[in-house]
Parts: sequence; structure tokens; C-alpha cells
Amino acid sequence: MLNEDLQVYDSCNLKSIAIPPRSRLYSLEPIGINTPYVESLTSYISRLAEAHCLTPNSLITRIIAPELKFSFIKHSSSRDIGTFFKKSGFINGYGEISSEFTRLLSNLTKVNNLALLTLGRYSSIFPSRKLLKKNKCWCPVCFEEWMLSGKILYEPLLWSLADTSICHFHHQCLQDKCPNCHKLMPWLKGKIRVGYCPNCESWLGKSISLSSKLNYLEFKKQLWNNEKLGELLLCDKVFANNVCEIIHEIIQVLFDDNISAFAKKLGFSKNTVWSWYHNQNMPELRSFLKICYSLNLSPVDFINGKQIVSRSIKVDSTKLIKPKGKKRKSPKSLDRKNIEKELLKILEDQKKPFLPMREVAKDLDISLRTLYRNFPLQCKAISARYRSYQKEAKDLQIDRCCLEIELAITKIYQSGEYPTEARVSKLIKQPGYLRYPKVRATLNQFLLKYISI
Ligand SMILES: [Zn+2]
Ligand SMILES: [Zn+2]
Repeated sequence: MLNEDLQVYDSCNLKSIAIPPRSRLYSLEPIGINTPYVESLTSYISRLAEAHCLTPNSLITRIIAPELKFSFIKHSSSRDIGTFFKKSGFINGYGEISSEFTRLLSNLTKVNNLALLTLGRYSSIFPSRKLLKKNKCWCPVCFEEWMLSGKILYEPLLWSLADTSICHFHHQCLQDKCPNCHKLMPWLKGKIRVGYCPNCESWLGKSISLSSKLNYLEFKKQLWNNEKLGELLLCDKVFANNVCEIIHEIIQVLFDDNISAFAKKLGFSKNTVWSWYHNQNMPELRSFLKICYSLNLSPVDFINGKQIVSRSIKVDSTKLIKPKGKKRKSPKSLDRKNIEKELLKILEDQKKPFLPMREVAKDLDISLRTLYRNFPLQCKAISARYRSYQKEAKDLQIDRCCLEIELAITKIYQSGEYPTEARVSKLIKQPGYLRYPKVRATLNQFLLKYISI
């Protein structure tokens, strides 16, 4: 064969290919980055667990907790995990645990912008008091729309801020109670999916009629709050200007250094303003927003030092909302006939779940004491019915737990292991129910049965 007949191939590149580092968990992209509707870290954890077909409980106790610097979560059935879930909303704020979760999740997923899913960058600007909502809040219309248009369900960080109470898109109050079981829920729970109630698994996109107690001025302020909080969340870098120093400047320039005049005009207590003025306390986010709203200032420019305090800034008196709740309602304003009718209607309605009197009073917007004082018979009847409904539900759960114990013991026994209490506890939904005598008796009865086989 002649040399000309041979085909010349490209030389082989023996350089090793640069493979990016592998992640232990999926590199799930957070939703809404660089928008005011950026996802919250608790929502990200729920979605990450679901993407791995795990419950948040398993994800946290088996994968995250062993790597945490703090050993506050021991195992999946420990009490610590229950306490952690109850207060899980704080992960969306700032602090050691929040940043530890962010760091660990970034390591596990190799997603490097997870810090934007929390308020970590505002730790030196706003105190943690009244910063976040304790319980989950959501807009049912947003959930419903996302579900119908096939979008991914998530919870924006904005919903977890204490100062948002309406949805910016739908102008409707955010909901915090399940439309089916009427229970409040934490931001994370052992078994939780975004968009569903962790207690009864109902779809949260179903709206319940909420009578808005906001008047026009308050509604306008809420819309402004939403917009400005969204702008704050959009900032990825904050130049930690001392808010107290700017308030000091405002009082000096606009109020001739008169703390009382500032406090009176904007509706704060004099002592509170005094502590800001002397840099002894930082204003909470709520107070900071109130100052910006009343003076027509941009919160983002304010904390980034772009807002120059000058005489041209004026207090907008149309935006000053008088504090409510001080005025006592006249007893004559009680519409006895209508309230009695409402209470009777509630009693006649046999649809479960029954509501406790506390919820009935809230729905009617009348204090519980006033209702009991004026309609004792109806109130007692509603309360008694709720108590018996609760007992009935508890008995049902206890029976269900007994059945679970029987199945768990059979399963453990069939797998060739000895059915110890610890093993049974891992297989039942509510291991805490072992404190009830009936459940304990069932456990002992079945353990005896297998020992004697
Ligand atoms: Zn909405
Ligand atoms: Zn529910």
C-alpha cells in the first residue's frame, strides 16, 4: 500500500477533560433569582426533598443534620426535630443555623446562590424581632394559577416576611389556615409538599373567603410594602449603612433635632425614637418601612446611602395611618339579632371539621369574651361540640395507631428481626402516641404474641 492511500486522522488529545465537581444532591435551580419573588430557603428544602422522593424529615435528619456543626437534631423521631420544624421559618431569616443550612445545601447541591433565599445580607441592618412570620402564608390564587399553567409550585421569600399580608398580583389577603382543617402550619414539617396542607394533605390553592379588614389607606400601604420589600429582596449586595445614623440625620434636618416632634408626627413612642437616635436600638423592619413610607423615601436607596437627607423631604400626611385598637367599641354596636342567627347557623351546620369558639369569634370579628357574655348557651354548645369532635378525632387516630403497630410488628417479625419498641416506633406515623394506655397495651399485647410464638 502506498503512503498516499493512507488516511490521516486527527491526533488524539490525551489531556484529561475538566469535569466539574459532582454534587451529592441534585443541582436544583432556585426559582425567581434576581426577581422580587425569589424563592425562600424553606420552600427550596421542600422541593429538594420532593425531587429526591424524600420527605423533608428524611432529607434533614439523614443528609443535612449529620453534617451540621450544631448537633441539635439527633434523629428523625426525636423531639428536637419537632421543635425545629415548628420554628423552621427562621431559616429564611439570618443567624448561625440559617447560614449553616445555606452553606451545607450549597455544598450538597453545588448551587452557589442559595444565600439569596434568606435575609442573611440584612443581618446587620434589621433586628430579627418581627422580621418573619411564624406560620406559613400563601396566596391561593397564585398556587392555583401556577398549577393550572403547569408551573413549578414554590413559596416566595416575600410571603415569609412579617410585613406582607396581601398578594401583589391578586390584591388578595395571604392565607395562613388550611381551607379544609383550618389549622395553621409551620414553613417546614416532616411530611410537607409545597401547595398542600401537611395536616390533611388538602390542596391550598382553594381559596376561603377572607373578609379584608384593611381600609383603603392600609391597603395602599400594604401594596407599597410589598413593592419595596420586593426591591430589598432584589438587592444582592447591601452597603450596610447604619439606619440609626440616617434617622438621626432626618431628625436633625427635618425636625430641628426634636425627637418628640418626629415621634409624634410619625406615630412612634418617644423612648423608641430616643433609642434609635442614640444608636442604642436598631429600628425593626416594620418601623423602618413606616419611616420610608411617611417620608416618601426609597428603602433601598436609604440603606445603600443614596438617599440624601435634605429639607426638600416632606412628611406625607396623607400616608399617616392612625394606630387603631385603642378606641373601645360601644356595646350598642353589637348586632345581637344577626350574631345570634350566625351562631345558630354554625350550630346547625353539621359539616366537619367543627370550629372552636376561638375561631368562630375571629370569623365574626367579635371578642370571645363578648360572645360568651351575650350568648352563653350557644357558645357553650359550640364549644362542647368542638370538644367531642376533637375527642372523636383523637380516638380515631389512636385506633389507627394501634393498627399501624400491628402491621409494623408483623413486618419486623417477617424480616427476621426482633420487634423492639424502637423498631416499631420508626415504622409508625405518630410514635408519640405510645404514651396513650390503649396504644401501649396494643404494643405489649402484640409483642407478647410474637415472643410466645
Ligand atoms: Zn397571588
Ligand atoms: Zn389541612
